[in-house]
Amino acid sequence: MLRRCEEAYVLGTRPLGEADLLVSFLTSEAGKVRAVARSAKKSRRRFGAALEPLTRVRASWTETEGRDLGRLDSCDILTSYVEAQRELPLFYFFAYASEVADLFAREQEPDPRFFRLFAAVLDAAAGGLPVTAARRYLDLWTLRLQGLLPDLSSCSSCGVDPAAERGAGAGECVVDLSEGALLCRECAGLAGAAGVERVRLAPGALRAARFGMRRGPAEAAVLSGPLEGLDSLSRRAMLRFTERPLRTLRFLAEGA
Ligand SMILES: [Zn+2]
Repeated sequence: MLRRCEEAYVLGTRPLGEADLLVSFLTSEAGKVRAVARSAKKSRRRFGAALEPLTRVRASWTETEGRDLGRLDSCDILTSYVEAQRELPLFYFFAYASEVADLFAREQEPDPRFFRLFAAVLDAAAGGLPVTAARRYLDLWTLRLQGLLPDLSSCSSCGVDPAAERGAGAGECVVDLSEGALLCRECAGLAGAAGVERVRLAPGALRAARFGMRRGPAEAAVLSGPLEGLDSLSRRAMLRFTERPLRTLRFLAEGA
C-alpha cells in the first residue's frame, strides 16, 4: 500500500454502487488519479463540498498494488470555485476545462506544466479574464504541451514571418495540421488551401496566438474577439487527438 498526498483539482465524480463515489482528479505529480470515496454518496458529511467540480484540494489517497482505483482518505478544500461558477459563462467554461484535463492528462503520469497551466487559467478566469480568452489560452497551451501545435513563429517552408509581410493580403497564413507546419500564403498557394487538415489563420489571429504563448493567462485578454481561424485551428488540432468533439463545447459561444 502506498499513501499519497497531493494538491489536486476535482475533475468529476460519479456514483459507484449504493454508497460510494468514484472521484477523478488532476494532480501535478501523479497526473490524473481515480479513487473511490467510500460512503460519499450516502453521506455528504465526510467530504462535504470538497468534491464539487474543480475545487482545489489537498487530497490524500491510498494506492494498492494490482488495483486500478485508489481509496480517497481525505480531501481538504484549498480553493473553492463554487461562487465563481454561479455565473453561467464561467460554469460552462469550468466544465469545458474539466473535460480538457480529463482527456489530455494521463493517469499516473506527472505533468507539472499542465497542472500549472490549469491552475493559472482557472484563477485568471475566476479573476475576470473573458471566458473566450481563457478557453483559447487553455486550448493553445494544452496543444503546445502535448506537442500538437505547430511552431507559429515563421513559415516552415521558406522561413518568412507572415506577420512581417507587407501589401494586400499580407500576414495571412495556413496551418497544415497533417504536416504540423505553418505556411505563408505564397508557400501554401492560398487558392483552395483550406481543407480538412488545413486551417487558414487571419493575421490578427496569428499575432494574438503568438502573444498568448509569451504571456501568462492574466494578460491574455488579447485572445478575445473574432480572431478568424483560431478556434478552427484548436478544434481540429484537438480532434486529431481526441477523435471526437468535446461534449462541453456546445455550451460555449465559439468565435465570440
Ligand atoms: Zn513560405
